[in-house]
Amino acid sequence: MPMLGLGTWQNDDPSECTESVKTALEMGYRHIDTAQAYGNEEAVGEGIEQADVDREDVFLATKVWIDQLNHDDVVESTKESMEKLGVDYLDLLYIHWPSGDYDPEETLGAFDELVEEGLIERIGVSNFTPDHLEEAIETAENPIFANQVEMHPLLPQEELREFAEENDVELVAYSPLARGDVMDVDVLNDVAEKHDASAVQVSLAWLREKGVTAIPKATSEEHIRDNWESLAVDLDEEDVQAIDDIDETDRKVNPDFAPDAW
Ligand code: NAP
Repeated sequence: MPMLGLGTWQNDDPSECTESVKTALEMGYRHIDTAQAYGNEEAVGEGIEQADVDREDVFLATKVWIDQLNHDDVVESTKESMEKLGVDYLDLLYIHWPSGDYDPEETLGAFDELVEEGLIERIGVSNFTPDHLEEAIETAENPIFANQVEMHPLLPQEELREFAEENDVELVAYSPLARGDVMDVDVLNDVAEKHDASAVQVSLAWLREKGVTAIPKATSEEHIRDNWESLAVDLDEEDVQAIDDIDETDRKVNPDFAPDAW
């Protein structure tokens, strides 16, 4: 899984969304993140189609929404997602939240079937606590490849990161820019100045140092490029420590259907 991907939540205007995906792929991105709930799978698929990149070279992930998590809905809605995206397989399919119709045996049983049919290559979960993750690992026949959670310098997710590492599960950071707020954090701006970079780039470089994949959402070519260029920012131990020591905490995504233990 490429460690820097493009997020697409709230990239709602279809032509703008298509253009962002196409721009990112032609710049070198090879990982695109969408979800049934974003309502933009068709626009994302169109961007993949228009880009001068082979489908096989793109790591494409989508997510099944919480009202589609019983067996038949998982299967049907995944096929619909694939049709909208214009693809005949998905690299990664996530359970968006362990909420709503989520039932470990039934939901993961359907995900296992999709793997066996060759429609999805990997099973992912999102917004899973260590307890949810442990239960999913024990329940699914196939490995749980990744847990996608909010993570950025203001929400370092130490416990989840350690648990994922111990259990061989990739961690994917959503809202890796704290939805833009990393730009206002002094420590990040200080480290950025040292590297002739931006606070956004430093946040993405810090996630990479932690072994975590990041999927910043960006719409304009300028932002898409700025984030891509974070790959050239190399933090040293002192920088990482300074960021680890930030004592401000902020969680951006906390809907009422989030797990109690959140
Ligand atoms: P984010 O990536 O932390 O921040 C996106 C915001 O930062 C947008 O306003 C964007 O503006 C701006 N931005 C991007 N690059 C920038 C740059 N280089 N300089 C300045 N501003 C920049 O927030 P997010 O969209 O919440 O999270 C990223 C992705 O994670 C989502 O799009 C989605 O794919 C996924 N996600 C998943 C879940 C889940 O439950 N699994 C929840 C939330 C998000 P522009 O759009 O104007 O460029």
